[in-house]
Amino acid sequence: MSQKLVITCACTGAETTKAQQPALPITPEEIADAAYDAWRAGAAILHLHVRDAEGKPTMDTEVFRRTMELIRRKCDIVIEITTGGAVGDTPEARLAPLVALEPEMASLDCGTVNFGNDYIVNTLPIMRQFAQAFRDHGVRPTLECFDLGHVHASKILIEEGLIAPPYHYGFVLNVPGSVPYSPEALLEFRHAMPQGAFFTVMGIGRASLPAQYGAIATGGWIRVGFEDNVYYAKGRLATSNAELVERAARIAREAQLEIATPDDVRAMLKLRR
Ligand code: ZN
Repeated sequence: MSQKLVITCACTGAETTKAQQPALPITPEEIADAAYDAWRAGAAILHLHVRDAEGKPTMDTEVFRRTMELIRRKCDIVIEITTGGAVGDTPEARLAPLVALEPEMASLDCGTVNFGNDYIVNTLPIMRQFAQAFRDHGVRPTLECFDLGHVHASKILIEEGLIAPPYHYGFVLNVPGSVPYSPEALLEFRHAMPQGAFFTVMGIGRASLPAQYGAIATGGWIRVGFEDNVYYAKGRLATSNAELVERAARIAREAQLEIATPDDVRAMLKLRR
């Protein structure tokens, strides 16, 4: 269990649209501005997806490169890129930016899951291919688990020596078609992970705020942002990603937790500099 609480901001995602959230950052410039504002509000990690000129999700390495350069010019936030990509992408397409750009962190999906009416496919052979690429390129994975079985699948990769400590989990709860958020579900995921691992709780949609309190109560870290939830309160859209980060930092401070800086994350997760 950590002394400091890490806030991740997932500012864009692959599925959220401007129609749902007019303040959604789409272009590299908009995403860099959102990352900077989130960093100022207390986020230590930026979870990064990028979009093409039409606003559709893309795994184009050059768009990632441009966006990461713009972010790094503004602040030292830790950049965690997605390897989930969008529904239907091949494993090679999902890994291309990681291989080319070697970010400090990236997400590693730990199993197959319903995603609303779609589904995300991650067989154990695909997961081994991903874990090997992370290891070869010195990228710290966030082990994203949408289902309890995913936590157990991640331990197969650990036993095979494909993932080295310190471990960082991302528990994604309340995706339609998968596990709804509840304190009991969060505790089951937490109990299944290796002892001493770090974990970030992501509550999708209306589960966002309960998941933040759940993280605080169980020694976890918090993720907020338009990828997961576009509302500040029932019927009231958030004005920006930073507004959601500010609230997360505020409730964590009220719980007497210190907010981690990017360099705290680099030390705790032993990130390659
Ligand atoms: Zn994502």
